Amino acid sequence: MKKIQIFSVSLGILIAFLLGFGANVLLFNDDSIEVYANDNTETIVIDAGHGGYDVGCIAWDGTQEKDITLDIALSTGELLEEAGYNVVYTRTSDNVSWPEDNKEDLQSRVDIAENANADYYISIHVNSSDYNDGASGYETYVDFNDDEMVEMAESIHEQLGLLNYTLDRGLMDTNEIPLYVVSNNSIPALLLEVGFITDINDFNYMVNNSDDLAQAIANGIMNSIKAEEINEEV
Ligand SMILES: [Zn+2]
Repeated sequence: MKKIQIFSVSLGILIAFLLGFGANVLLFNDDSIEVYANDNTETIVIDAGHGGYDVGCIAWDGTQEKDITLDIALSTGELLEEAGYNVVYTRTSDNVSWPEDNKEDLQSRVDIAENANADYYISIHVNSSDYNDGASGYETYVDFNDDEMVEMAESIHEQLGLLNYTLDRGLMDTNEIPLYVVSNNSIPALLLEVGFITDINDFNYMVNNSDDLAQAIANGIMNSIKAEEINEEV
């Protein structure tokens, strides 16, 4: 009798353990699926061009590039953060952490990305030209040997194109036209010129629709990261 009792108790414990274990496995799987779906672990550096002592280009009304880039950069970063990405900003105000020296300024921005061990570096700028040459549109500087960043640039251009505010001037190869923050960066990087401060339509759009521009840039970045993840899974 006693042996049978001990046996059935042990069996009961074993069954309970197995059920519990099974349930744990199922729960664990559920958790990992959920975590995976929301797991935007990439670190994205958002670099607002210029800042502090360096005003960038200036519009006829005195508006400075550094203020337009900061506006768009902060909104872009916020959207990426809301989507769960880790965002690192080179600056979040007109106060800059680097000295008044162009080389040290640019190197400090690269250092911020490298120290954060970031996955992507997105620099936001505004173009300028002579007022009478009619230049307008957005363009992106990227290393043409870096397929992933070329795809991200194309993805951003696709989204900017939906806004229909100006011309798509295409992509520029930093192997031909080197840009410090792209060419001297171990983090995959691109530099977007959102429009021309010297073009009245571009200028008005950049000043009045910075949130739309930020949404397009953020969507372009996120679509490209997701497409890359799907490619890796296949
Ligand atoms: Zn600039």
